[in-house]
Amino acid sequence: MNKTDLLSIYEELKSLITQHHEEIIAFGRELFACPELGFKEVRTSEILSSFLEENGIPCTKGIAMTGIRADLGSGDGYHIALVADMDAIYVRDGAKTYPYHSCGHSIQTAVLAWVMKLLKDSGLVDRLGGTVSFIATPAEEFIDFEYREGLRQEGKIRYFSGKQNMIEQGVFDDIDCVLSMHINGDSGTLFDIRSTLAGFMVKKAIFKGLAAHSGVIPHLGRNALHGANLCMNALSYMKDQFPKETGLQLHPVISSCSGSVNIIPEEVVLESYIRANTLDELMIAGEKFDLCAIHSAKALGLECEIINETGYMPLAQSKEIGDVVYEHMLEICEDAKIVKNVVSGASGDVGDLGYLIPAVQFGFAAVKGRVHSCEFEIADEENAYINTTEILLKTVCDLLAKPELQVKHEDYLTRKEFYMKNWLQKEH
Ligand SMILES: [Zn+2]
Ligand SMILES: [Zn+2]
Repeated sequence: MNKTDLLSIYEELKSLITQHHEEIIAFGRELFACPELGFKEVRTSEILSSFLEENGIPCTKGIAMTGIRADLGSGDGYHIALVADMDAIYVRDGAKTYPYHSCGHSIQTAVLAWVMKLLKDSGLVDRLGGTVSFIATPAEEFIDFEYREGLRQEGKIRYFSGKQNMIEQGVFDDIDCVLSMHINGDSGTLFDIRSTLAGFMVKKAIFKGLAAHSGVIPHLGRNALHGANLCMNALSYMKDQFPKETGLQLHPVISSCSGSVNIIPEEVVLESYIRANTLDELMIAGEKFDLCAIHSAKALGLECEIINETGYMPLAQSKEIGDVVYEHMLEICEDAKIVKNVVSGASGDVGDLGYLIPAVQFGFAAVKGRVHSCEFEIADEENAYINTTEILLKTVCDLLAKPELQVKHEDYLTRKEFYMKNWLQKEH
């Protein structure tokens, strides 16, 4: 396809967006008013699937509880996934706690569903060739553990993140690249591109000793708190072995201690997140954590059991696809309004996808009030809903029309095997 053809497609898309401007924003408001926590996005799923089906796009529903996938195109050729988070989080306002879309995920679902509708209306996927899938993923926020543990015990989910369950089920096996977006907390800029997200893992070390009267026979006891304390020291020394740029963060807490003040503690639980900017460093830090815990316990004649909960991988975005997105941002605003290469301390399960498949999650500014707080408000609807729709539509067209942009991981299967074995694994 030559450049003139592509430019006329862009014009066609822009006029479609203008025509539906109010409806796109109204759909965003409707989803914003429907905040549901992870794996409980029942209404959200209904709104999205009815919208797509009414527009002639069939959906598979109920994936990993509430997830949706809808495909456009022949199933052949380059295959782009438009991936949207669905869930809200709890916020507090004084004494009240309630679910609220203070991470802006409702914007993602609204915009990506509209991108699908406009692709369908324009017939562009058939004209350009290839396949585009809308994939709405439940439970991105890493919260509400008791409920999710219940689901896991009932066999309804295997992991606390929607994307992780969907990856295991093969929902992404035929996808070549992932396009997604997320609100950022910036003001004064409009977008961010090629930002990284930190990865994290969750560790629980249970130190087990022997209880004894602390005044009469302390020497017959084995103090589990001593083991946990020794481990705390070892962990803070261990942090010194990582250079600053790895972003290693580790803040252990003692989350429980058995007994009372006249008893040598028999069981102590030490918990920590470990965060790092790269997968290699994160895996090394995880191994070192285990060694610190096990050997601190051994040194004092204690036992130590380590329980791992799967966290999220660090996100490294696809540079090639990021460049395409960036070009279309420049058609909306000047370069100074686009922040580049932010190293964020935040995490997301899009990190896992980005390891398996070339992925982009660009950021857009639109917020008044802090992200994740009850003060969050969508102040710039034009940027949140309209500009993002334009960028995504144009990027999809570029990727379908230009074979030289169609990056993919040829070693997806090897990556998935490593991922299943070394990341989603659990040791008890
Ligand atoms: Zn969030
Ligand atoms: Zn979020």
